[in-house]
Amino acid sequence: MKRKASLILICILILFLASCSADSSTESIPSGSTSTVSPLINEVTSEPSTPSPEPSNNHVHVFDEWIMVSNPTEDEPGLMERICLTCDYKETQEIPKLSHIHQYSSTWLNDDNQHWLVCSCGEKDSVANHTFDEWVIVKEATDTTTGIRERACLVCSYKQTEAIPLLSHTHSFEEIWHNDINQHWHECTCGEKDSIANHIYGEWITTKEATESSSGLREHSCRSEGHTHELQYLP
Ligand SMILES: [Zn+2]
Ligand SMILES: [Zn+2]
Ligand SMILES: [Zn+2]
Ligand SMILES: [Zn+2]
Ligand SMILES: [Zn+2]
Repeated sequence: MKRKASLILICILILFLASCSADSSTESIPSGSTSTVSPLINEVTSEPSTPSPEPSNNHVHVFDEWIMVSNPTEDEPGLMERICLTCDYKETQEIPKLSHIHQYSSTWLNDDNQHWLVCSCGEKDSVANHTFDEWVIVKEATDTTTGIRERACLVCSYKQTEAIPLLSHTHSFEEIWHNDINQHWHECTCGEKDSIANHIYGEWITTKEATESSSGLREHSCRSEGHTHELQYLP
């Protein structure tokens, strides 16, 4: 309140002096109450050409409260201004950008090796290698097909999948000979064939004579080394 009172006093003083100087100059400004505002503004915004020791030249701005024009953000500085209550002079001031406080995502990001949290600014936090749980077998490996196992990261649930190699298998070939019309071979339970070779035919032997009503039968045997098997064919 004290400030405001002294402000009013200064104003009155300025108005009085302004009207006096206007009267003394050749300019014909009416000395009425309506004219008192314009010379006042001129006095402050532009220095008067005629130097005078009058206190009106040493106007000290008396500012109103700061008014926020734009709030500062993390990206842009803000702006505030205040206006002189006497002369309407406007002073502006920049408000520095807000300091960025990282806010990290609640969900984990990850790659094959690591997981982390991320801020909207791109800053990473809590970067760490995956902490895997035990392997869980999805599909057992056999002699002939690879298996699948997987394990998950206890932190980010990243899932790692891996093939389980074929169970080691030593072929065990049966004693008996398998054969078709041309070849004979030993076979393993896995289907692998061994000792594949063409038959070595012996002599044809007629086992049933042909008659007028029925055809006969003859056969010959494979005479490969170490084994024989009879092969029967209709003539
Ligand atoms: Zn002022
Ligand atoms: Zn950030
Ligand atoms: Zn992880
Ligand atoms: Zn085998
Ligand atoms: Zn044979």
